[in-house]
Amino acid sequence: MKAHDGLYIDGAWRPAATTEVIEVVNPADEQVIAHVPAAGAPDVDAAVRAARAALPAWAATPPAERAARLAALRDALVARKDEIAETVTAELGSPLQFSQAVHAAVPIAVAGSYAELAATHSFEEKVGNSTVLHEPVGVVAAITPWNYPLHQIVAKAAPALAAGCTIVLKPAEDTPLTAQLFAEAVHEAGVPAGVFNLVTGLGPVAGQALAEHPGVDLVSFTGSTAVGRQIGAAAGAAVKRVALELGGKSANVILPSADLARAVHVGVANVMSNSGQTCSAWTRMLVHRDRYDEAVGLARTAAAKYADRIGPLVNAGQRTRVRGYIEKGIAEGARLVAGGPESPCEKGYFVSPTVFADVTPAMTIAQEEIFGPVLSILRYDDEDDALRIANGTVYGLAGAVWAGDAAEAEAFARRMDTGQVDINGGRFNPLAPFGGYKQSGVGRELGAHGLTEYLQTKSLQF
Ligand code: NAP
Ligand code: MG
Repeated sequence: MKAHDGLYIDGAWRPAATTEVIEVVNPADEQVIAHVPAAGAPDVDAAVRAARAALPAWAATPPAERAARLAALRDALVARKDEIAETVTAELGSPLQFSQAVHAAVPIAVAGSYAELAATHSFEEKVGNSTVLHEPVGVVAAITPWNYPLHQIVAKAAPALAAGCTIVLKPAEDTPLTAQLFAEAVHEAGVPAGVFNLVTGLGPVAGQALAEHPGVDLVSFTGSTAVGRQIGAAAGAAVKRVALELGGKSANVILPSADLARAVHVGVANVMSNSGQTCSAWTRMLVHRDRYDEAVGLARTAAAKYADRIGPLVNAGQRTRVRGYIEKGIAEGARLVAGGPESPCEKGYFVSPTVFADVTPAMTIAQEEIFGPVLSILRYDDEDDALRIANGTVYGLAGAVWAGDAAEAEAFARRMDTGQVDINGGRFNPLAPFGGYKQSGVGRELGAHGLTEYLQTKSLQF
């Protein structure tokens, strides 16, 4: 694609007030592939004003018409699916097949789900002598990360549009081209001017100006816990709604009755996909002591298959951070069974698929989010021990349980402090609520639960 040198504000690409730019780098070969504006506070202000001006008309647009725009948006994304996949591969580095199957396909499914929900959701209900109206929250600031660059945009923009909100998006500095493609699709879908606005820029400049803007009613943020905490504090001080989708350290619990080979195989694939840059990845594998050595052997074999298939990390800083965690794992006494901190390639921000055994719950690599292709295998004695370990982090975003039958796995899953659990390899469901317990976040995305985040209620008594 050709990068835009402007910002998408009030229905058109406009020059930024600043001349600062962001260099977009291909992490597979470290080449600069494009430049986009690094917006400042005046640009953010212009975008918020456009969103506020467009709000009354969009909020009053019948849900059926909002649904029609969302269906057109889904179609525009379908028409561009190859360009989307190629763009994600160029700026994030994920292998093209994964970009097609996940980075392009999932947002299409999610946009389609909100076209349907906008048409079928009850925006009014009767409660005794009251009529309860579900009205849009207002102007939404969407601040998104780079790891699933289009999915994370669509998971905010689609429900916001369905609800009748208007939006200003500040995407991650590493993946602005995918966001520009999304803005083009919104434009093609006939969404009225000002309803969706895109401001590319740096987090502490454009992101912070947007999150703190008094014209914003709700801040929806996905990213690191450190920034999420700041945004939550600022939103609290301004009495503004906030949704936070933060990190995770999810457990993959393999009960003794499970099909061990399948559980390990799927578990390793889950951690290595997208080079481990998935907030819900099952980065801690919990195995009963009687089957532990067998599981470690299976994981070593499974990880080796990814050695020449895995993409790079998104940037040099993330590679340094992930290598630091691998070195820390070794220093704290975990046993390296695959991969390691050395660079496998001369060019590109690659890290080898890495597996640690003999990891204990207190180790740094068992507690902190690494955000790279690094799996820790922990040993448990019995189910209560497994549950203590699974629940023993500050996070609670996702998880998995494997057992001989689904009922046994479900019984364990019900005791886990986490927002999503996949039972015996259950499939991704774009309508299921996604979000965190504990420090993994506040609020839910996707499906009807995700739509509710963008609505506020008004009660009329008769
Ligand atoms: P991040 O800094 O939290 O980035 C998320 C988004 O917030 C980006 O758009 C970022 O802009 C923006 N941002 C940064 N500082 C801001 C501020 N002060 N005010 C408002 N917005 C701000 O995350 P990161 O630096 O890309 O990644 C660091 C770590 O975060 C990762 O290693 C991983 O552990 C975690 N992470 C989690 C997720 C997740 O899905 N939960 C996603 C990505 C990262 P810039 O792009 O300019 O920084
Ligand atoms: Mg950052």
